[in-house]
Amino acid sequence: MTPRHKPNHKELAALRRRYHVERERRVRPDGSSQYQGTEAEFGYYAADPYIKGPTKREAFHDTVEVAVIGGGFGGILAGARLRQQGVERVRIIEKGGDFGGTWYWNRYPGVHCDIESHVYLPMLDETGYVPEWKYAPGQEIRRHAMRIARKFNLYPDALFSTSVTSLTWDEASETWAVATDRGDMIRAAYVINATGTLTNPKLPGIPGVEDFKGHTFHTSRWDYAYTGGTPEGGMIGLADKRVGVVGTGATGVQVIPKLAQDAAHLYVFQRTPSTVDVRANRRTTARDVGADRSGWAHERRENYLRIVSGEPEEQDLVADQWTASAGLLEKLLPSFRRHGDRKAFEAAYEAADAAKMNELRSRVEQTVTAPDTAEKLKPWYRYACKRPTFSDTYYAAFNRDNVTLIDTADTHGIERITERGVVVDNNILEIDCLIFATGFFVGSSGIHSGKLPVHGRSGTQLLHTWAQHGPRTLHGFPNLIQMGSFQNASSVNFTHILDEQATHAAALVAAAEAANALVEPSPDTEDAWIALLAKDAPDHEWFHAECTPGYYNREGLGRPNGPTAYPHGAVAFHQLLADWRKGSMDEVLRPRTATRP
Ligand SMILES: Cc1cc2nc3c(=O)[nH]c(=O)nc-3n(C[C@H](O)[C@H](O)[C@H](O)COP(=O)(O)OP(=O)(O)OC[C@H]3O[C@@H](n4cnc5c(N)ncnc54)[C@H](O)[C@@H]3O)c2cc1C
Repeated sequence: MTPRHKPNHKELAALRRRYHVERERRVRPDGSSQYQGTEAEFGYYAADPYIKGPTKREAFHDTVEVAVIGGGFGGILAGARLRQQGVERVRIIEKGGDFGGTWYWNRYPGVHCDIESHVYLPMLDETGYVPEWKYAPGQEIRRHAMRIARKFNLYPDALFSTSVTSLTWDEASETWAVATDRGDMIRAAYVINATGTLTNPKLPGIPGVEDFKGHTFHTSRWDYAYTGGTPEGGMIGLADKRVGVVGTGATGVQVIPKLAQDAAHLYVFQRTPSTVDVRANRRTTARDVGADRSGWAHERRENYLRIVSGEPEEQDLVADQWTASAGLLEKLLPSFRRHGDRKAFEAAYEAADAAKMNELRSRVEQTVTAPDTAEKLKPWYRYACKRPTFSDTYYAAFNRDNVTLIDTADTHGIERITERGVVVDNNILEIDCLIFATGFFVGSSGIHSGKLPVHGRSGTQLLHTWAQHGPRTLHGFPNLIQMGSFQNASSVNFTHILDEQATHAAALVAAAEAANALVEPSPDTEDAWIALLAKDAPDHEWFHAECTPGYYNREGLGRPNGPTAYPHGAVAFHQLLADWRKGSMDEVLRPRTATRP
């Protein structure tokens, strides 16, 4: 089919069959449990390779107003917004050696954001910074995280290279006891949990993965001491190495062109090809984005959120692939809204989706010269099944003589790893360095995973409570505020979501301080919130049921039960929070009975 060709009924039926066959080639009965963590015998995958020098220090005992767990954008924004509310004692506790979170850990060659920097980097108006690239490299993003932390004076009270290991509510003092892996004991009137959603690296549970005797690491713990070079490339340490990279998702697509340039030979192990659309990254100036006007970044970010949330907007200030695909949907939606005919809408959506996917498959053919390799790189699923990726160098990498694509769909992944290499289809490929671009356990950090136990009133464990009644929130246990997308709104621009939550959290803390109260919603308030989320929860199950396995559909086995997000989108959610702050904060405030230490 030609690019942008709109398929007819017969072609659509054929596509549906093909998508189904491709899904069945990849789906596994063990679902998400095919992966394993990086602890225990794989501790070296979880260590911090960016720390220079000793991190030993005395254990800390003190009392603060707010302890923030996590020094990524969530934690930094919480700290900054608290400062703006006049909160003085804010201690951010971070496992890594500095601020940045995702951008501290992920320093692999080629790392950059997939959302326009001018809307992704938060607090541009407040810091006066204007990003240098349309899609910023990771180092620029990390430096910006550090810039915000400096501006709001978050460094002096930060504890780095420190993991929080438990939270225990102390009834007598009505404070949290925050314990860490350094033996610290910090008392905090409030805790904000900002431990991230893509924090815990995962490895495929390939038999023999622990036997490999060559060099190995996860992309979120890049070993420059071994590879040489920098995030821009120049990995001279790989010039004589046979390198294997496992995974062709968002990270794989960014790192593979760089490895192709520098490795003696690169084997790319693929289970499912990503969609790889045009990147067109370029340097930008303040003039390009209208940064001479005050409030420009706020305006741009709101404009972007409205468009990607499907709200009508006259002007598209960002004009990237995300606003283009949202625009496509927006064109279809009016007829659905007018006629309310779900079937007609779905048919139009499916046809538009197929045209887009045809265009992306044809992009592979136009770039990759070996027909067999091109065929294997074509994505056979609907666009929204998998996280879209963007690159202008990815497909060209497969035209190099030193790059071999190993498609593992028919063998349901790599069969085995031995001391010296990787076995696929009974062939052993000898490898010197094996790199896992296999992503993270999504949304499993801290509290959700049970690695950070939370003991609330009368010792009640948060996870036990959630196991009995299902997860429920409206700001959580006493004075414990949870950042992230859970039972909240989400958007492709995640820092915007985090910033709104940070503003909300800081306002809550300020209100509770002013009223000498605890932040503790009643069970009725929580029930009402969960009921509201459930009432209009969209049913995406039918869509994901035919998707290729991945983290969007729990490896093909379907979405978890229960509402996970606010159903009316981020724009409406932010308005709801703002209205709520104006009116009904009292419903979550409960008078303190203890005198604060
Ligand atoms: C490679 C990559 C590219 C991405 N690109 C985009 C993009 O283009 N656009 C977008 O919107 N999003 C993107 N994301 C998602 C990104 O994670 C978010 O945008 C955002 O940075 C998350 O911030 P956070 O503070 O919620 O979490 P994180 O940045 O993950 O920070 C959480 C921090 O908590 C720390 N932590 C966890 N547990 C503990 C503990 N017990 N004690 C102490 N510290 C702890 C972790 O070490 C981590 O530093 C990307 C993610 C990855 C991995």
